[in-house]
Amino acid sequence: MRTSFDGLEVWFVTGSQALYGEDTLRQVADQSREIAEALGRDPQVPVRVAWKPVVTTSDAIRRVCLDATTDDACIGVVTWMHTFSPAKMWIAGLDALRKPLLHLHTQANQSLPWSEIDMDFMNLNQAAHGDREFGHLQTRMRIDRKTVAGHVSDPEVGRRVGGWVRAAAGWQASRTLRLARFGDNMRNVAVTEADKVEAEIRFGMSVNTWGVNDLVERVDAVDETAVDDLVAEYEQTYDVVPALRTGGERADALRYAGRIELGLRSFLTEGGFTAFTTNFEDLGGLRQLPGLAVQRLMADGYGFGGEGDWKTAALLRITKVMAGGLPGGTSFMEDYTYHLGPGPQRVLGAHMLEVCPSLTTARPSCEVHPLGIGDREDPVRLVFTADPGPGFVVGLLDLGDRFRLVANEVDVVAPDAPLPRLPVAHAVWEPRPSLATSAESWLLAGGPHHTVLTQALRTEVLQDFADIAGAELLVIDADTDARAFRQELRWNAAYHRLAQRL
Ligand code: MN
Repeated sequence: MRTSFDGLEVWFVTGSQALYGEDTLRQVADQSREIAEALGRDPQVPVRVAWKPVVTTSDAIRRVCLDATTDDACIGVVTWMHTFSPAKMWIAGLDALRKPLLHLHTQANQSLPWSEIDMDFMNLNQAAHGDREFGHLQTRMRIDRKTVAGHVSDPEVGRRVGGWVRAAAGWQASRTLRLARFGDNMRNVAVTEADKVEAEIRFGMSVNTWGVNDLVERVDAVDETAVDDLVAEYEQTYDVVPALRTGGERADALRYAGRIELGLRSFLTEGGFTAFTTNFEDLGGLRQLPGLAVQRLMADGYGFGGEGDWKTAALLRITKVMAGGLPGGTSFMEDYTYHLGPGPQRVLGAHMLEVCPSLTTARPSCEVHPLGIGDREDPVRLVFTADPGPGFVVGLLDLGDRFRLVANEVDVVAPDAPLPRLPVAHAVWEPRPSLATSAESWLLAGGPHHTVLTQALRTEVLQDFADIAGAELLVIDADTDARAFRQELRWNAAYHRLAQRL
């Protein structure tokens, strides 16, 4: 299960032209290598930055773009026109490039050495207009890209480049995503349906269904000593209630939960899956609805969606990849119930069982409670409250003619009072700009009730991902105005229909 950025890289490609002569081009190469190294050293940039030799001809540009496209380790290309690189030379290359593109508009020197500037200096340091030539061509070719301007010593530049790198890694995770559905969607639910063929065309994700009894076979075949070891791990890692502990009157329930985890894990590992769904209506021979197992697999980086919701499962996997290594959790979530006052209006988010323990830094409690839904034995689950802090919820929906992402920036807060009778993991948040504007905008956008909640990322990373994917993203944040949001929906409807090929 890959959740790290190991082995991934972005290529740093610098443009120039032969006109300047060898000495100048040597300086261009040295300086561009320094810029690439500075980005690579920045801890905000989570992958290796691979410097490539300066390109000065149409053939060399096309070659490096083709190589980047076919190299699986390369998740994106950063370009910089150190000097002037006549942009018609870039047409064939950009036409061939099929990797995310970031245009870094920078220069080697931060300050101008005013008293020493001569024409040699001017000829060497002319990204100010060289990058404008390149920007023009990208726009002329309708090339989607991210543009970041500033000196690499500015932490803001590293933050924005690093965020784009995370989005590019998310895109790579999307293109290689294999999702196993155990059973179909919950009957009659609209929002969890979607076009799986279109999802594979647009996002690269492969979504297929297995009979839940394929999983049951594995669960039943799990070795007892493996269950012993896993139960010991549970007892060390969580506050396991006495009834579930070895020797307790419900110890069998925890052992069976462990059996589900081992069976699920081996199924997913052997199939190369990075996300999965379950459906309480279709549990076959499973004795419990998977709760603890799903929670722990999410914590290990797997995407998950309840009730057969594969779109949210895929989005969770992608978001977990983008958030890799950052503080703050990322989980499957559902808007469950509201506090509409007095005091600040809040959302209580939870699910039947399946909330990822990455949302808490506290030690979760491992409990067993009855669950009417699913018609099986009482399922084991981790119970905890999500840590406070800023974050966002994001959902993915199918409008019939396209996919749409909707996100809402939120502040996770401590519950107003303890929730001693709530037997599931939960998060309480205040949506920005207000519960009313957030909910009205979300409803108008057709946003789903299942979401991904993350406290690890800013929405700029999500925007970068949406731009790379060519997907619509609507962000509801502190600046959202309900009237302007309605207009944005209308404009987007026109834009995204026009932007799709006939
Ligand atoms: Mn649900």
